[in-house]
Parts: sequence; structure tokens; C-alpha cells
Amino acid sequence: MNTTSIAPCGVICDICLGFQRDKNKCVGCNHTGNKPYHCTVCSIKSCAEKKGNDKLLCYDCTKFPCRRIKNLDKRYISKYGESPIQNLEKIKEIGLDSFIIREKEKWKCSECGHLLCVHRAICLKCGSKNEYYPVYFQK
Ligand SMILES: [Zn+2]
Repeated sequence: MNTTSIAPCGVICDICLGFQRDKNKCVGCNHTGNKPYHCTVCSIKSCAEKKGNDKLLCYDCTKFPCRRIKNLDKRYISKYGESPIQNLEKIKEIGLDSFIIREKEKWKCSECGHLLCVHRAICLKCGSKNEYYPVYFQK
């Protein structure tokens, strides 16, 4: 996880299934190369790009949080228990570097040390449970 791992919307590429899987691996939002179709047509990404390099994270935008990012946030919270908007607010508060250190620690699998995947209930490497996955919240 590094400073280019955070998409403008606050989604963390390193913990995404597309980024972690071996087959058809995604290069990540801020890189050019193989990406899932819905990411190549992402309106949030293209909006951020239009605003230029100094606006690569959406919290800098005068429209933040816009309707698009609110919709994304709602979907992420209900499906995965994660809030990209909260990520951005945290980055604004503590800075990108500190945020990354925090998230690396948070998402580290307690069994094998690999990063957990936000889209899966278990660690992709060793199969231990991902405690942040919503199915475990409901217990
Ligand atoms: Zn593991």
C-alpha cells in the first residue's frame, strides 16, 4: 500500500479483490493498464482527472461529497462495511502517509500478515476470517 493506492473516491486499491487476485489482476485506479470495465468508465475517476493533479483525492473538491461519491459510499458501507468518504475525511485529518500506515495495520491478517480483502469474508492467502466483513458485524 502506497500513496498511489488510494483512488480519488477514497477506495483503497490494495484491499480490493481486483488488485489482490492473481488472475486478471488490476493495476489499481491511479495506474494505466488492466482494470475491470466498471473502473475504466468510472465517472468519479474521470471527474478527478479533469480537475488535475492537485485534485487527485475528492475531499479537495468544492462539491465533496457529491452525489456520485455518496452513492458509492452507501453501496460500500452496506456491502462491505467500509466507507470511502470516511477514508477521505481521515486522510484530510491525519495526512495520507499516516493514513496508509494505519490502514496497513488495520487490514493485516492476524494469521499470515497478508492484507485482507474488503470484498471477501476470509483472507485470500490463508483463509482466516476478515473481521471487518459485514457478515461478522451482524453476529
Ligand atoms: Zn491470512
